[in-house]
Amino acid sequence: MSIQSNILEIRNHIPHQVQLVCVSKFNPAEAIQEAYNAGERVFGESKVQEICAKAVILPDDIKWHFIGHLQTNKIKYIVPFISLIHGVDSFKLLKEIDKSAGKMNRQVNCLLQVHIAEEETKFGFSESELIQTISGDEFKLITNVKICGLMGMATFTDDKNKIRREFNTLKNLFDKLKSTFFANESYFKEISMGMSDDYLIAIEEGSTMVRIGSSIFGVRNY
Ligand SMILES: *Cc1c(COP(=O)(O)O)cnc(C)c1O
Repeated sequence: MSIQSNILEIRNHIPHQVQLVCVSKFNPAEAIQEAYNAGERVFGESKVQEICAKAVILPDDIKWHFIGHLQTNKIKYIVPFISLIHGVDSFKLLKEIDKSAGKMNRQVNCLLQVHIAEEETKFGFSESELIQTISGDEFKLITNVKICGLMGMATFTDDKNKIRREFNTLKNLFDKLKSTFFANESYFKEISMGMSDDYLIAIEEGSTMVRIGSSIFGVRNY
């Protein structure tokens, strides 16, 4: 299957209001160009060096999303061009992004990553940590970051009910925050959940943004 036909197939299953993020990490620029030629404009990468190298050689109208674990010392490299940072998983990171964005006179769009999987290895805020963070006085000092919504990753498992439960947890938390803390923030509207193996469930559970890699580009060579 070609990249183009993979995209066509996936597009058939995604409602128009759900944003497809083509996860191009570990794939060469030529593969991204192929997806671009098929009409895609939003690409997700997980390494700072890789996203920067690709951004300079690929078309200017690509919207680059950072989906990996971001180290504070590397924030400054992506702030000038990043369209959305998905995985903000601590207040420390949020503060550093805010500082860097302020220095460069930019507003940076971010999603707060919530730990929804029952397994230990995934990054993110717990629900109580998240509520504590956004209720704190320090949170009000964040002025250069737009919190556009939440992001989460389900457990890597064949148990579809478990995956569904985890996505539902994220959707419920989103609704709760949308009706309270972010009631006046029209840009707080994204729920980034769903990958190649579970995006159909994620969409059923209210995802607004799916991050799909291997189903488009094939199995990655790390
Ligand atoms: C790699 C990655 C994806 C894409 O995973 P696939 O299973 O290849 O679709 C999505 N989200 C995050 C955070 C990733 O790191």
